[in-house]
Amino acid sequence: MRRKLAAGNWKMNGSQAALAELDAMAPYAAAGDAEVLICPPAPLIAVAAGRAAGIAVGAQDCHANASGAHTGDVSAPILADAGATHVITGHSERRTDHGETDADVAAKTQAVLDAGLVAVVCVGETLEERESGKTLDVVGTQLAGSIPEGATAALVVAYEPVWAIGTGKVPTLQQIGEVHAFMRAELVARFGEAGDGMRLLYGGSVKPGNATEIFAVSNVDGALVGGASLKAADFGAIIDALNAA
Ligand code: PEP
Repeated sequence: MRRKLAAGNWKMNGSQAALAELDAMAPYAAAGDAEVLICPPAPLIAVAAGRAAGIAVGAQDCHANASGAHTGDVSAPILADAGATHVITGHSERRTDHGETDADVAAKTQAVLDAGLVAVVCVGETLEERESGKTLDVVGTQLAGSIPEGATAALVVAYEPVWAIGTGKVPTLQQIGEVHAFMRAELVARFGEAGDGMRLLYGGSVKPGNATEIFAVSNVDGALVGGASLKAADFGAIIDALNAA
């Protein structure tokens, strides 16, 4: 049985004062079995970690190396030392803004695993790729190239269509189901039982108003949420929907 996961990506938003939202999320996390994760900007991780009961804290990115001369970068062991338990890798904003390739994402994901943390690996097609019928090819290539050998059932994969992130546009439930079933089959083919245990999140404009129907889709084990994770009222409603699914 895969434990459900509600993950929030604060991106480049937030402040120490905004961490009060975590306190307000704690009752929602306590009300059910789903795991709840918030990934704030890196400087807030140490302040956020352990602050609110039942709210795990993660990072949005890491360097592929454990340490060294990489000014401005943060490594997975440093994030672990700050209290992070999860790291998002391969978010489309990293792939686009920083030119991260599948090989880069795989190296970062390996660093996350080496540090004993949970990797949340993001994949997803652009609108152009969707409209030209390439969605499964793109997702399959990203999955194969971004997840290193030796990944275990602890790994999390987030399907995030690029065109649905921050746009208010959401794929149909059938489209989400098709991609998640495809990802499950690919992961089981490659990792066997571990692939069946990996949690698959949907991400892209998840809101309180659409969460229940998305969580009813087969092989959707939770969500990676951007904008709606910034406020406890919205994210709490999404946690409630996941717990009820
Ligand atoms: C994201 O940042 O991963 C995301 C899904 O954003 P949003 O929920 O705002 O579309």
